[in-house]
Amino acid sequence: MDPSTASNKSFILEKPKSVTYADRPVPKLSSPHDVLVAVNYTGICGSDVHYWHHGAIGHFVVKDPMVLGHESAGTVVAVGDSVTTLQKGDRVALEPGYPCRRCEPCLAGKYNLCPEMRFAATPPHDGTLTGFWAAPADFCYKLPDHVSTQEGALVEPLAVAVHIVRQAAVSPGQSVVVMGAGPVGLLCAAVAKAFGATKVCSVDIVDSKLEFAKSFSSTHTYASQRISAEENAENIKRAIGQPGGADVVIDASGAEPSIQTSLHTVRMGGTYVQGGMGKPDITFPIMALCLKEVTAKGSFRYGSGDYRLAVELLASGKVDVKKLISDVVAFEQAEEAFKKVAEGKVIKILIAGPNEKQ
Ligand SMILES: [Zn+2]
Ligand SMILES: [Zn+2]
Repeated sequence: MDPSTASNKSFILEKPKSVTYADRPVPKLSSPHDVLVAVNYTGICGSDVHYWHHGAIGHFVVKDPMVLGHESAGTVVAVGDSVTTLQKGDRVALEPGYPCRRCEPCLAGKYNLCPEMRFAATPPHDGTLTGFWAAPADFCYKLPDHVSTQEGALVEPLAVAVHIVRQAAVSPGQSVVVMGAGPVGLLCAAVAKAFGATKVCSVDIVDSKLEFAKSFSSTHTYASQRISAEENAENIKRAIGQPGGADVVIDASGAEPSIQTSLHTVRMGGTYVQGGMGKPDITFPIMALCLKEVTAKGSFRYGSGDYRLAVELLASGKVDVKKLISDVVAFEQAEEAFKKVAEGKVIKILIAGPNEKQ
């Protein structure tokens, strides 16, 4: 595809609930280590929908029109002079955040914590719902021939799950409870299983999501009831046959009652990881954390090796993301696609790039 003649139509958030399409200039390679990628497919993430509704997440506030999207895969159309790892025509998953590579977290190998991070569709940085995307070659991951570009767009949420499960240090034979059966929760369950967990229980309030979880990779499911966190936790432990609690509990929901249930579900000396984002402050069962000597960790985006492992999990068939793709729509239907995600009607919807033939 020739970037000089193709469309660089972009899907732009102007202000909360107001989106538009506009042709933006095709990005230039800013370094000899960069490549230019024609974006083929982009998944919609909860964070995109949140910006669309509210124009802000925490202290990230959309002040100027911003291109949405960050879960993309595409095809390399130009490479900088110093690029040795990729060539034109390679299909790649795009890691959409670029750290400074110089600060303390970067040098310590925790580049997801870089304060200078430039992350797609996080203001003031534009996202990937556009025709062409320029990126450092080492943040573009070549897809094997048997992995489709559509699957490649799912590498982003899969990398989020890989990071969470690595934070939890899930090991063979463990029992893992995942609160929330949205895309990231489902992928956490799948990754935990790939890491050797023998019991993986998905918890949600929506029965249809649990049914899907069971067909995807969870060995157990539990539908949360309108009862206390302690009672829900007892039911979960009974459901998985672990009266002492689960080795690992991952919250991929961000919901206060789920977080409370997590702390009552984890075993003595177990591990709890917070992956989902919800209210910034909640009532937290800190006594349970203390008395059970729980290891508690946060998890933010993805870091060293997470994307690479996500691609390997796809390539080896250990995680089958194809099942998560509910629909693929043309670029011009981006707004309708956002509405469907907001209504919770789909698991993962992909938007084709503006130059993609449908
Ligand atoms: Zn995302
Ligand atoms: Zn840095």
